[in-house]
Amino acid sequence: MSQQGYVAAPPYSQAQPGMGGYQGGFGASPAQPLYGHYGGPPQAFAAPPTGKKLLLLCPMQSPPPPTSSVIQQPFQTSPPPAMGQPQMPPGPQLPHMSPPQSPLASMQMSGPPMSGPPMSGPPMSGHPMSGPPMSGPPMSGHPMSGHPMSGQPMSGPLMSGQPMSGQPMSGQPMAGPPMSGPPMAGMGRPFPGPPPSGPGGFQQPGQFGGHMAGPQPGMPGAFPGAPGGLAGPPQKKLDPDSIPSITQVIEDDQVKRGGQVYSTNIRGQVPPLVTTDFTVQDQGNASPRFMRCTTYSLPSTADLAKQCQVPLAAIIKPFANLPKNETPLYVVNHGETGPIRCNRCKAYMCPYMQFIDGGRRYQCGFCNCVNEVPVFFFQHLDHMGRRADFYERPELSLGSYEFVATLDYCKNNKLPNPPAYIFMIDVSYNNIKSGLVKLICDELKTLLENLPRYISAINVGFVTYNKVLHFYNVKSALAQPQMMVVSDTAEMFVPLLDGFLVNYQESKAVIYNLLDQIPDMFAETNESETVFVPVIQAGVEAFKAAECSGKLFIFQSSMPTAEAPGKLKNRDDKKLVNTEKEKTLFQPQKGVYEQLSKECVAQGCCVDLFLFPSQYMDIATMADVPSHTGGSVYKYNNFQVETDGEHFLRDLRKDVQKSIGFDAIMRVRTSTGFRATEFFGAVHMNNTTDVEMAAVDCDKAMTVEFKHDDALSEETGALMQCALLYTTVNGQRRLRVHNLSLNCSSQLSELYKSCETDSLINFFAKSACRAILNQPLKNVREILVNQTAHMLACYRKNCASPSAASQLILPDAMKVFPVYMNSLMKTAPLVGSTELSTDDRAHQRLLLMGMGVEDTQLLLYPRLTPLHNVDVNVEAQPAPVRCSEERLTDSGMFLLENGHSMFLWLGQASPPELIQSIFNLPSLAHLQGHMCALPELDNPLSNKVRSFIDGLIEKRPNSMKLNIVRQKDKPEMLFRQFLVEDKGLHGGASYMDFLCYVHREIRQLLT
Ligand SMILES: [Zn+2]
Repeated sequence: MSQQGYVAAPPYSQAQPGMGGYQGGFGASPAQPLYGHYGGPPQAFAAPPTGKKLLLLCPMQSPPPPTSSVIQQPFQTSPPPAMGQPQMPPGPQLPHMSPPQSPLASMQMSGPPMSGPPMSGPPMSGHPMSGPPMSGPPMSGHPMSGHPMSGQPMSGPLMSGQPMSGQPMSGQPMAGPPMSGPPMAGMGRPFPGPPPSGPGGFQQPGQFGGHMAGPQPGMPGAFPGAPGGLAGPPQKKLDPDSIPSITQVIEDDQVKRGGQVYSTNIRGQVPPLVTTDFTVQDQGNASPRFMRCTTYSLPSTADLAKQCQVPLAAIIKPFANLPKNETPLYVVNHGETGPIRCNRCKAYMCPYMQFIDGGRRYQCGFCNCVNEVPVFFFQHLDHMGRRADFYERPELSLGSYEFVATLDYCKNNKLPNPPAYIFMIDVSYNNIKSGLVKLICDELKTLLENLPRYISAINVGFVTYNKVLHFYNVKSALAQPQMMVVSDTAEMFVPLLDGFLVNYQESKAVIYNLLDQIPDMFAETNESETVFVPVIQAGVEAFKAAECSGKLFIFQSSMPTAEAPGKLKNRDDKKLVNTEKEKTLFQPQKGVYEQLSKECVAQGCCVDLFLFPSQYMDIATMADVPSHTGGSVYKYNNFQVETDGEHFLRDLRKDVQKSIGFDAIMRVRTSTGFRATEFFGAVHMNNTTDVEMAAVDCDKAMTVEFKHDDALSEETGALMQCALLYTTVNGQRRLRVHNLSLNCSSQLSELYKSCETDSLINFFAKSACRAILNQPLKNVREILVNQTAHMLACYRKNCASPSAASQLILPDAMKVFPVYMNSLMKTAPLVGSTELSTDDRAHQRLLLMGMGVEDTQLLLYPRLTPLHNVDVNVEAQPAPVRCSEERLTDSGMFLLENGHSMFLWLGQASPPELIQSIFNLPSLAHLQGHMCALPELDNPLSNKVRSFIDGLIEKRPNSMKLNIVRQKDKPEMLFRQFLVEDKGLHGGASYMDFLCYVHREIRQLLT
């Protein structure tokens, strides 16, 4: 756990260059100016980089010759023409999705411009063509490489640009109806009114080549299933390799930046992708593991931000785990004085404070206030104006560090007690019968015994419940645990103080005894009703009495229907799906639940919920408290010990051992000109600036959106400081500070160059998941599509070199953005399908709200990895392929995982040798349906495959259950819904269709 490691760090006052944890080079004179020199020009991009773009050609367009199609002109250096506001009104927007701002400016675009043959593809598959019939040869199944297709009129987009798969694709002239056909309805408005029908709002891409009839008439909306009714000529396939590939982008970044040290000394530098394996060296800006931005060059004015509509946001994961080879955070202790802060804006001492006056005063980088340097902190400046102790003080030279907080930062001016964990087990009939209670009790014995040392000091308590609550006295002096029953759940109280929360090691014998007895005590129970709110209330009361914060682990299998506060009724109603009222399915019941969240946050009581439903549980309501207290919600549908036990136990172990801070409050400060306006996450807000979290663990991330107040200075850039006050698991009050500096530019091209697609999609995912609480899903999806089109149209208009209107030009940094966006709209919460359970949708919505960038990336683009042809003799892990059915082979074996679900898919023609090696069975037909783990066989392939799977389960925040599916078996449907490049199983367009739709929208915007 990272925050523990640095306790033993050498005292800063003694540190010298080359000290302890600083990595090579840090102690020595920096090769380039560090933070004191932020006023200087950004160091990247001294020369205008060569733009890298991707072209998508439309029908009737001859693609540019290979050379010109790929080598784009440099980005303009003069200000791009402004997009006239009249043409670009903001259009219908969610309040929180109002035109975001953000430019990026400093990605290093070293290397040659992307040169590669242009790619062209045949028309898209599966689309009715409303235009003239195509006369080209059917292209399906033919890679485009090397096949001239001259003269074949085709309708459908043609891509040119960088080769996505390495094979040359010669460009073909495509014939098709001119795009200058009848203007679309709503033309001239960036956000044409929503199409009246179809939740998706997707035009069939077949019309892409036809006249642009507009989305209105007969638009089936690609979302709800296939547009079966549309007539058209047989579809032709566009080579899927010709559109931008996420797996390729990931691989390219790994090749380019993988294995390298990423130093954070350059303002506005775009970090490697989250999927890339790199090492971070903190040299004045927070590691991208802690903070990632949607763009690293902010637009200098609000007008520019509005014009491009690229959201300006940071995704902050304050407790992110660091790899072993990176230095844990240093702790600064100024004793009773406490942290040094700006008198005006209260920002903490950091690399952005400029020392002046011979070191006697400093100017705040956030508000420009000039402050006196406290006497104890005084230090002379060297000839460069830098303090002589620059490298000895983390708060002067690092992006991230901690301060020991003083009493002023503690509740009631009292140092906190160490947090406590309370295990609260539903012992109603279902849980006893399924064997779950016994499973939990057995596991807790080993789990608590093997707690990592850093949390072994934590106190623990135990409660069981059904309609009433049972508290246990497990004081070490007792020979037997004592049970106390509270049956009046209306006014919850804790019947014992002494002996309820105890040190595990001291009370181990009594606790063992208790855990042994619990399953037997309730073995004969007939009670099937449970309470829920009183259970949480009991936890809050216990923490209150013990004057501590902590976490409740609640294990529950049914909706609380017993007569008690928070009693719930089944309000599931599939008829609401795709109606104005669908949002009510996601809205929690108010009243007592809302109040309970507030009480939990005030006490620092985090709630983790482990649910084992066999039917609807109203997760929207039950998970409301966890989702406001930094807690996690785990769900095991139709739980069976044999098939789901291990999955659940792995989750529980991971959860208990997570690094975590309690009773936290976070503030994000910014330099003048912009400020944090929206916060998305498992958090609670009492006012507009303080983010309160009962707890925050290493996997929870807050997404913070920024808006302009004023113009930003290109010279000084934009600074942000995230300060998180919290209590460690040992009960120490700390301040964790993360600083990040971004560039500012009046050039939109800088913004687009410095975009971070994975962060952008994290922002959109969270803002959409919040929006569906208040708006019809149809509106939310339309806004997502419109904003996608708008961002890309703005790039095209202002940043791309002139080209034919029929070309889709994507900024290099955003070229796979449409795949993610399309996948987002097909996620359970957003897709609007009656086939999905309301609880599953609500659960995923809440999960998304707390996710960091790695998690949303993986969720929205699952890894599909062929395992039948792995080289067992190489160390390297097998490489994933694109997430589409096209990549599957009948004789193959593929693993698919998205961080929450995992499938091993077996083609129907899997060779018997493969089945023998993996399953020890003679053929696929012998495979049992419900197998959920691979047998341990001692052969190279089995070892390789199992270690690959185990590695993934270990690496992800959640454990995953392995589902084994055979091609064409019924459960295969579950697997197929994760093939996100294909048409959605529950609705939603294929990637290709979506790209074409977006292209059409862009053209409309540009007309
Ligand atoms: Zn200040």
